[in-house]
Amino acid sequence: MDYGMIGKIEKAKRYAQEHERFRFQTFSVKFHGDNNDHNVSYDDGKWTCDCEYFDHHEVCSHSMALEQLLSGMLPPREE
Ligand SMILES: [Zn+2]
Repeated sequence: MDYGMIGKIEKAKRYAQEHERFRFQTFSVKFHGDNNDHNVSYDDGKWTCDCEYFDHHEVCSHSMALEQLLSGMLPPREE
């Protein structure tokens, strides 16, 4: 491995610790729930989940779990 690559890997390790550098904008996740799998997605501040609870509340345990997991790495919520 060349010296340049070693430097990049070191930098990546440091970046990965610095969560404030990251802003997730769009993603989708297959969520293994206790009973079923769910498809959760996030697009520019808007969550969607295919579970029934989300249909009625526009938030659910799946979207909230991801919010906690990605704490500090999502754009601020619009209230
Ligand atoms: Zn859900």
